[in-house]
Parts: sequence; structure tokens; C-alpha cells
Amino acid sequence: MDPFQNAILFLESIRKYINPDLVKYLDRLKTPHNVYKTTLKVGKNSYLAFRSQHNNALGPYKGGIRFHSQVTESEVKALSLWMSLKCSIAGIPLGGGKGGVVIDPKKVNVKELEEVSRAYARFVAPHIGEHVDVPAPDVNTNPQIMAWMLDEYEKIVGHHALGTFTGKPLEIGGSQGRTKATGFGGVLAMQYLLNTLAQDKKYEWAGKPKSQITIAIQGFGNVGYWFAQIASDLGYKVIAVSDSKGAIYVHDGLDPKATLDCKREKGSLAGCYCVGGVCDLKKGKPLSNDELLELDVDILVPSALESVINSQNAKKIKARVVVEMANGPVTPEADAILHKNKILVLPDIFANAGGVTVSYFEWVQNISGWYWKEEEVDERLDKLLKKAFEALWQEYQRLKNVTFRQAAYIVAVNRILTAEKLRRPTS
Ligand code: NAD
Repeated sequence: MDPFQNAILFLESIRKYINPDLVKYLDRLKTPHNVYKTTLKVGKNSYLAFRSQHNNALGPYKGGIRFHSQVTESEVKALSLWMSLKCSIAGIPLGGGKGGVVIDPKKVNVKELEEVSRAYARFVAPHIGEHVDVPAPDVNTNPQIMAWMLDEYEKIVGHHALGTFTGKPLEIGGSQGRTKATGFGGVLAMQYLLNTLAQDKKYEWAGKPKSQITIAIQGFGNVGYWFAQIASDLGYKVIAVSDSKGAIYVHDGLDPKATLDCKREKGSLAGCYCVGGVCDLKKGKPLSNDELLELDVDILVPSALESVINSQNAKKIKARVVVEMANGPVTPEADAILHKNKILVLPDIFANAGGVTVSYFEWVQNISGWYWKEEEVDERLDKLLKKAFEALWQEYQRLKNVTFRQAAYIVAVNRILTAEKLRRPTS
């Protein structure tokens, strides 16, 4: 189904829960404020490019730029809407935006990639700025690409403007703690939930010692790896991880750093059964990606792709909690099945908001010219996400029969619509 239409349908499904004095503004979220598109010409090649600015009632538009062969206008619009909600639930003063270029970065050389990045910056330059719209990396874009875009943008405006892009290299205004922020935020989110559930007899399991809380993670890239590493450092038992080539299972709990080193050396996770710094073929076994999702674990963490838990496999999910680190890993049909089976889902707009929150910190540091230590970044992230969780939990408890996803949307939408009402009550 069309991703943007899907997002709109979900918004409609929570209409009845929106504050009565705000609901008349809900339709304002159904159309992005601006959608820019063009064809970037680089040498003999052409690339379709988009920037969607969804809503800026809470602050400047904010959102990544995706380089992928499957990028569509509808996907970029849907992602920009989710960014509005993500910034709102995280309690940061930013709106929602997203960009995309239809390109397979693996098929172009570095020179071409730089030219495409600079062409994209020229395309969006009239529409972005520190206080207008602040892009960042997303799928297949990285700090180097942000550096090229920033450089091109500054040439056009004729002055430094570090706060116009986030996710930059540390040397040119990036923030400490950004690389691990999404995974770290996800572990914090999981911990707030476990600590809260543990107070309720119904969820006694959540109070088990950390070393007995089992975790399976799909995806071992930036998000999956950091989730595994931080959870493991805190004492949780990560028993399975996967990448695009397959999954591994280590009964005693795996060592994420040694596993990553082993994967880098061998090119895949296969056989990387590493415990306490030692990798030994006897300590684990291979699994398929489907088997990982269906493991009987306490926490399942999809950190790779969208729609991996769907109507085909939702009934087979045995985890007690799903922490959505990827964007949109659970389809609407699967969400209903998980809810029926009493599996709690921490929704993406909250669970993976650590990344955009530290991007916000980067923006604050760039604007103020005052840079923070990593511990300071981590501490501020913990404070903001904890506050966000408390609001989400309160709404979840107050409304009783809603899912976490609905509760998160309701909190986020009410905040944006309150700003809409204050700014433009009658237009
Ligand atoms: P990444 O490219 O670093 O890692 C993706 C991982 O998924 C890789 O290990 C890859 O091998 C694995 N993978 C691909 N196909 C798979 C499959 N079929 N089964 C199992 N694993 C598979 O990407 P990332 O930055 O870690 O992002 C992962 C997800 O998190 C994406 O959905 C992204 O939109 C979302 N996200 C990322 C951030 C961030 O700050 N990086 C923030 C918010 C959301």
C-alpha cells in the first residue's frame, strides 16, 4: 500500500482520542507543507530527488536524506510525517522533514557520490537553513556526505552555517555520542519499560535479573550493533543477532564487540559465536533470519528493515516485547495480531528517537558554539527520553485499551496540534 496513505489512515484511527479542542486541526497533518522534487544532472546521469517538509509548528523541519534505488515521493512524505511525530514525542523543538535521491550508492564511485551530494545541496539550498529545515543522514548517507553538502551550502550562502546539517563529522561540528545515540536511546527505552512493568505483578518476568533477560536483534549495522553492545555492557543477555546473510544464536549470551570484529574479518556473522572475547564454533549455531524473529526471547529488536513482522509471521512471534529500532518494522496487520497476543510493541517513533534527539543536541551546540562532552550528551539524552516515556506511559494507562503505538501518536499529535492552535487558530 502507498506509504503516505498508510500513515494518513493511522492518523485517522486515533482521531477519536485527540483533544476535542484540537481535533479540527488534525487534517493539517495530512498534507506536507512543501514537497520539492527535481532531477539532479550529474555528468551524463540523472537522479530523481525529493525534499518533503511536513510540519514546522514545533520548530524547523528536521529529517534525514536517504540515498536508495527504491525511494519514492510517497515514502519521503510518509517519513517526513513520522519525523514530525518523532520530534514531538521526544519533546524537542523541531518539526518533520525528509529527503531522498533515487540512486544505488553501491553502483557509483566516490566522485559521483560527492557530485550527487553537492547537486542535492544546491537543489535544497533555497529551502533549508539553521532555522528553516535541517537535513541529516539516513539510509546510505553518512557524515562524509553531510560534510560535502554543508560545504556546498556554505558556498551558496557565503558564510558558515554548521547548524544547517546534523550527523556531521566531529571535526566540523558533529556531536559526541551521535554514532551510538539511536542504539543507546533504544536500550534506555527498553529499560524504562522493563522497570515500569516490573512493578506490576502481571509482568513479573520484567523484574528478573538483567543477566536472565534475553534479547534477539535483527540487523547488526549501526543501530543493531550499538543496541547489542550497550545492552550487553549493562548485563542483559543478547543471545542472537543477524545481518542480511543470516543469523547466529549463542546460548550463553554473545560478546558484541568480538562478534563485530569476527564479522569484519570474515565478511559475515556465520560462525562468529563469540563469548567473553573468544570465538568458538562450539558455542553457538546458525539460524535463518526468520528463525531469529521467532525465537522465544524476552525482547525482540528489529533493527534492519521495514515490514519484517507482517501478517505471515506475526502469529509465530514469541517475544514478550518488541522494540522497534528500524522504521516501520511491524505492518499494521501484524500490529493487531501482536496486540491480540499481548505482545507489547515499543513503537519506532519513540524507540529510535535517540538519533534525532542527539541530532537536536548537535544543532544546539552548533548554534551556541559551545560543545559538550560525551557524558553530558548521554545524560541529557536519558533525561529527555525518560520524560518522553513517562508521557507515553501515562497516556497508555489513561486510555486503557490503546496500544503503545496509538498512545505515542496521540501524545505527539496533541502536542503538534496545540502549537497549531496557538499559531494559527483560525486559518
Ligand atoms: P545499517 O545499514 O548500518 O545496518 C542495517 C543492518 O541490517 C545491516 O547489518 C544489514 O546487514 C542488516 N540487514 C539487511 N537486510 C537484512 C535482513 N533481511 N535480515 C537481517 N538483517 C538485515 O543501518 P542502520 O543505521 O543500523 O539502520 C537500521 C534501521 O534503523 C533502518 O530502518 C533505519 O531507518 C533505522 N534508524 C536508524 C537510525 C540511525 O541513527 N542510524 C535512526 C533511526 C532509525
